[in-house]
Amino acid sequence: MSDETSADESERNASVIVIGGGPAGLSAALFTAKNGLETTVFDADETWMHKAHLFNYLGIGSVGGSEFMATARQQVDDFGADRRQGEEVTAVGDSGEGFVVETSVASETQRADGDSAEQSRGKSESSRPSGDDVSRDSADRSSGRRSREEAADDDGEYEADYVVLATGANRDLAEELGVDFAENGTVDVGVEMETSVEGAYATGAMVRPEEWQAAIAVGDGAAAALNILSSERGEHYHDFDVPADAERVFGELVAE
Ligand SMILES: Cc1cc2nc3c(=O)[nH]c(=O)nc-3n(C[C@H](O)[C@H](O)[C@H](O)COP(=O)(O)OP(=O)(O)OC[C@H]3O[C@@H](n4cnc5c(N)ncnc54)[C@H](O)[C@@H]3O)c2cc1C
Repeated sequence: MSDETSADESERNASVIVIGGGPAGLSAALFTAKNGLETTVFDADETWMHKAHLFNYLGIGSVGGSEFMATARQQVDDFGADRRQGEEVTAVGDSGEGFVVETSVASETQRADGDSAEQSRGKSESSRPSGDDVSRDSADRSSGRRSREEAADDDGEYEADYVVLATGANRDLAEELGVDFAENGTVDVGVEMETSVEGAYATGAMVRPEEWQAAIAVGDGAAAALNILSSERGEHYHDFDVPADAERVFGELVAE
């Protein structure tokens, strides 16, 4: 390994793959992307939220589930997460130094609705795609929506230091990864949401029998992300902002 490569590696931010882009997954992605970790979200877009209307999400009087998801998606995009909508994870495993996932693109509806070339630029290396995916990816994203053939070409393999499982009540990938399950059939995690496999987290509906609410899923994702950030920084971490930060983040758009 050359000196140059070593220097690059030492400066590299940790990377996180989030599997599932419902409330749990997007919450995890929001916190990790906002705090500088290279974050990629793979989502098959079958979140239960598309069937829901929320009257019980604290701070929001009433909102349609799909509308809630649209705002959440925009929020994680704005903080730099690479959200790969319509790309399903078909396999997950331990790579020795982290995790590797295999993906499959289900249809030609690739990128998130409303994704612009502007948003897509500069995100192509965020998940350390293995092989020679990077240059092709870069070109694809700047051209926006792609054909079915191009989509099929995009099936891939990705590596990351951490993985956050957020596939709703579907626990198949957790089982494949070999994490411990509780006697009631849920994935066994503590309040940090880390599974028995170091660096692998489980969140949302898969960690609870029935007691499923969007607010709880969002909390799980945040807890997982904060634990990852604490691991990376070597001390307990929280993400607190104050009013002055709003000006920095939104500039002239900030509400008075
Ligand atoms: C009819 C109905 C009404 C509801 N009403 C309310 C309500 O009023 N208030 C409330 O708080 N909650 C409500 N809920 C519950 C709420 O929708 C769930 O608690 C919440 O969506 C769970 O979030 P999650 O992120 O764990 O899972 P999900 O929202 O299910 O998201 C999981 C995501 O992971 C994706 N995924 C799965 N496997 C893969 C894979 N291999 N690769 C890539 N992506 C994958 C799925 O496509 C999906 O997009 C309702 C649910 C239903 C069904």
